[in-house]
Amino acid sequence: MDESFSSKIRRLRPPKPLRRAGESMGWTSEQEPDGQGGLVSSRTYFLVGSECRFTCSMCDLWKYTLGESHTPLGSIAVQIETLHEQVSKEIPGSKHPEWIKLYNASNFFDPANVSPDEYDSIAKLCKGFRRVVVENHASMMASKKTQDSVLRFRDLIEVPLEVAMGLETMDPNAMKWLNKSMSLEQFQKAVEFLNGEEIFVRSFVLLQPLGTRLDESVEWALKSCRQAAAWGSQRVSLIPTRSGNGFVEDVASQIGWEPPTASQLENAFDTLLGRSLENQQVDNRSCIYTVDLWDWKTLAGTCEVCSQWRHDRLERMNQLQRVLESHPPRACTC
Ligand code: SF4
Repeated sequence: MDESFSSKIRRLRPPKPLRRAGESMGWTSEQEPDGQGGLVSSRTYFLVGSECRFTCSMCDLWKYTLGESHTPLGSIAVQIETLHEQVSKEIPGSKHPEWIKLYNASNFFDPANVSPDEYDSIAKLCKGFRRVVVENHASMMASKKTQDSVLRFRDLIEVPLEVAMGLETMDPNAMKWLNKSMSLEQFQKAVEFLNGEEIFVRSFVLLQPLGTRLDESVEWALKSCRQAAAWGSQRVSLIPTRSGNGFVEDVASQIGWEPPTASQLENAFDTLLGRSLENQQVDNRSCIYTVDLWDWKTLAGTCEVCSQWRHDRLERMNQLQRVLESHPPRACTC
């Protein structure tokens, strides 16, 4: 890792909000394509623990982490338990959805972020779900210690495990700015290891990361998504790059970077789903492609009339895995 680069990224961050151990950032639920033409309901728990050991330049997840270097033992399980109770209160009579995502804004298999001594209790709290999804940096998968942790947790949960990892981009110009501390080969090997152990892989790809030429960003997003699929990811999620962590804004003005627009996200997704349906060999259609809509409202290039309509179209495309016609409301001023 380039220490001075990391230091600069950290120096430019706005002040870190105070988080308390054992207090989560809440939960959300959604319907995801199940890969067989249907939908599966999934619930995401946003857990708070210690900060990730890496310092990716576009990352804003550090805002949801503790000041301590190690997550206090037991605090992850406490959050899951509390969130289970919270969901039961907010939606009385609700049953567990099929999948649960335990997103801890860092690396699930880094012992500093989630103690292996908590795996047993976490696994017990996942009983009743049919898949457990966690996040981890791909480069850590090369270590035997991490591999052992992954396999131990997989065996404890007794249902399929899915590991989500950021590929981010294959654009060499953007990789220079990412500070991802990971090579493409490491990512590929991590996918191979997980697939070899019958663990599902979800990959994250960025639309228009810092350093990617604006007129090439859709092309690089498509290339990266397709490569993640070709390497063995069962799911690839395309995420519009966000600003707001200080470093992105600092560099943006120097290199002429702009945040991706709604139209770019739509173009990328239309092409990704459209072409892949025509050419299954090239695109490996066993892979599910989705776009991340959590920050849709912050994307430029929509108006009050069309924004919700366009959001809903992409959401339906996420679920149906096919391109839908695009006829925004007539009064749209975009
Ligand atoms: S590995 Fe993930 S959590 Fe860690 S800095 Fe990079 S993007 Fe953020």
